[in-house]
This record gives sequence, structure tokens and C-alpha cells, in this order.
Amino acid sequence: EAGIVIAGGGHAGGSAAAFLRQYGWKGPITLVGAEPILPYQRPPLSKAWLKGEATAESLALRPARFYTQQNITARLGERVTGIDRAAQRVILSGGGTLGYHRLILALGARPRPLPVPGADLPDVLVLRSAADADALQAALKPGRRLAVIGGGYIGLEVAASARALGAEVTVIEREPRVLARVAGQNISAFLQDHHRAQGVGILLGAAVEAILGDAAGVSGVQLRDGTVVPCDAALIGIGAVPEEGLARDAGLACGNGITVDLAARTEDPAIYAIGDCAFRPLPLYGRSMRLESVPNAIEQAKQAAADICGRAPPIPEVPWFWSDQFALRLQMAGLAFSPAQAVVRPAAEGEGFAVFHLAADDSVLAVEAVNAPAEFMAGRLLVAKQQRVPAALLRDAAQPLRELTG
Ligand code: FAD
Repeated sequence: EAGIVIAGGGHAGGSAAAFLRQYGWKGPITLVGAEPILPYQRPPLSKAWLKGEATAESLALRPARFYTQQNITARLGERVTGIDRAAQRVILSGGGTLGYHRLILALGARPRPLPVPGADLPDVLVLRSAADADALQAALKPGRRLAVIGGGYIGLEVAASARALGAEVTVIEREPRVLARVAGQNISAFLQDHHRAQGVGILLGAAVEAILGDAAGVSGVQLRDGTVVPCDAALIGIGAVPEEGLARDAGLACGNGITVDLAARTEDPAIYAIGDCAFRPLPLYGRSMRLESVPNAIEQAKQAAADICGRAPPIPEVPWFWSDQFALRLQMAGLAFSPAQAVVRPAAEGEGFAVFHLAADDSVLAVEAVNAPAEFMAGRLLVAKQQRVPAALLRDAAQPLRELTG
């Protein structure tokens, strides 16, 4: 009996297996995962886990007994190497094949390589998997110098955790500000100041020319202007590229990621794609995009499981994301594609603040909150409703947000 095959045992794949059972799928489910461990959460790898504040067990998405109880077969340490669409079966790295009634591609993304000399030296690291996190943690000791190439979320989170472990950290960012692709100006400026105040060196507009060192290890990062940032380890965190090769080879449409609809279906009715590897519609913004977040992995797992079980697709969610750096909790909802203005509002409680991004017609496109959970929650509702709110009202902390969200 051909059942559901899930290729990729990460956050999206693990969630899809659970939702399939929850929504009533009774047939076989086989999860094929390249990593040797059951589905786990990646966010702590750069945060609590890296600082030694979380156990390996607490990373697991679900305990091992869940898979036995739910009759989900996990084939770990094995890869799907090909898809035979005509015969509805996948080819496995071990040589065998596995027939499917429905196939869910949950392949994730891999760190974007940095094409410079020296990128393959010892102690030049990336952070995607638990194994990567082990190697990074081993390289972070008090007084050791870490160069972080890329001022994105992972780079900044690792910088904060590395400081907590007593390491010396320099962040090297090519753009004129950190988080240039994913956050507004206010947040970038605030985080740069905060990191610097915590002793993190931040170099902006700095292009990496080469990574220096020898077989014994890395010794520094050389910038285009000739500056050398000395280091004992380097982390490359310049984004991720979707694992779409399998789908491409099988003739499925790919953009930046595997193209799917709001039920996570590819153009082949028997094949779905979810999570970091999927190029998905964003109905709120009238365009498609690839999202790299846990909420997106879960939402798309629901979409695929619902469709396979003959249920209506869930109502599309507002994209959202979080990040922890030092004592800061950042929460972002919505995407500010062409904002007309940014409005800063102090948090009702504590020292935090929120930035609301408004379109030209005053509708709320996105909110970014720093230690301001109530403002984040209210902002998320405003984004979902695409509500118009005059900037003067948003800016005025004396105007309760609860009334604005109706
Ligand atoms: P993954 O979790 O990457 O899983 C894909 C799996 O498929 C991997 O195990 C891979 O080995 C496997 N695979 C690939 N190819 C094959 C194949 N051919 N056959 C079999 N298996 C294969 N998101 C947030 O929302 N908030 C955060 O704070 C946050 N922090 C993060 C911190 C770090 C360090 C990282 C790396 C990510 C973070 N993210 C965060 C992003 C979030 O973890 C991802 O969006 C999420 O893991 C995506 O789930 P996924 O299942 O699509 O991909």
C-alpha cells in the first residue's frame, strides 16, 4: 500500500507527519530524513542551546515515542536522491525505492556558500544543523575571537550568544546596515548600537576578499580595503539557498524555491512542497515569496496535510518571525514591501518600542517590535485586517492600541 512519503525531516516535515495523523490520515507515513536525528527545532541552535542553556532533548519537536505511537516510520540518515513521477516513487540514497500516494517535499535550505579563497579552511563554520552547532560551540571559548561574516539574524544571534560565552566578536556586513534585507532602518540602527554597547565590533559596508589561514586553522578575514580582522574561528551567515534540485530534476517549476499554491501543491497533483524550500503565494501582498521561518513551516505543513485529508486549506496567516539577542526579544509581523512611512511607538510597559510600517493609504503593512509583545500582538491584527490607522494615532502611546484593532 503506497502511503505518504515526506522527504526531509526538519520542522516542516516533522509537523506535516503530525498534522496528517491529527487530520485523520490512517495510511502509512514515511519520513525520510538526511540528518541522523528525529525532527528538531533550529531556532535554539543560535540562542539558548549555543549558550548551553538548553538540553539536546529539549530541541526535539516531539519525543521519540510519538512516532511509534502514531505509527510514523522515520528513515533517518537517508536521502531522497530522485523522484520518478510517472511511477509515483522516490529513489533513496541506500539504493532502494519507495512508492508514494502523495509526496511532500520538506527539504529546507542550505547555507549560501561564500565564494572567496579560504572559505574551506578549518574553523570556518556555518550554522544550519545540530552538528554545525556542536562545532560552533566547541570553537567559542572565553577570549577566543570569532569573526561573523553576515549581519543577518543568525549572525547577530550568534554574536550575542558568543559574547555571553565570553568570546570576542566582530560582525562583518557588506551592506551599509545590518539586517538590510529583512528589517527596517530603525531596527537596524537600534541593534547596531545595542550590539556595540555589548562589546560586539560591527563593520558595515565591508566586503570580504579572502579568509586567511593554513591547515592549522583560520587566522583572519581580509576585507577589500585591505583590513584584516584577526580571528580564531569564522562563521559564515550570509543567507540560505533552497533545496530545490530534486524538484528541478523532476521537471517541477521552481522560482526561488519550489513553486506551490495555497494548499502547498506543486504543479504535480501528487507532490507538495513546504517550508524553507517552497516558493509560496502571499495573498495579503499579491505576490509569491520564499519564507524562512518556523511559523511558515508549520502553516504550510497544515496546508499540505489538510489538502491530502480532503479538508479546506487553513486561512492564510500573516507571516511572522522572532529573534532573541542579548535581553532583547524581537518580533516581526507582515512584510513592508513599499512602505510610505515608519512610525515609532514606545511600549506601554517597559523600555521596548514598536515600529509600524504604513502604506501610502495608511494601511498597516508590517510591525517590528523590540521587547513590546502587546504592541506586536495588536500590530499583527492590524496587518491581518490591512487596517488604516493615521500615523498620529499610532505614535501616541496614550491612544490604546486595543481600540484601534477594534
Ligand atoms: P529544515 O528544518 O532545514 O529541514 C529540512 C531537512 O531536510 C533537513 O534535516 C535536511 O537535512 C533534510 N534534507 C534535505 N535534503 C534532503 C533529501 N534529499 N533527502 C532527505 N532529507 C533531506 N525561524 C524562526 O521563525 N525564528 C527563529 O528564531 C529562527 N532561528 C533560526 C536559527 C537558526 C540557527 C536556523 C538555522 C534557523 C532559524 N530559523 C528560525 C528558521 C527555521 O529554523 C526554519 O525556517 C525551519 O527549520 C524550516 O523548516 P524546514 O523543515 O523547511 O527545513
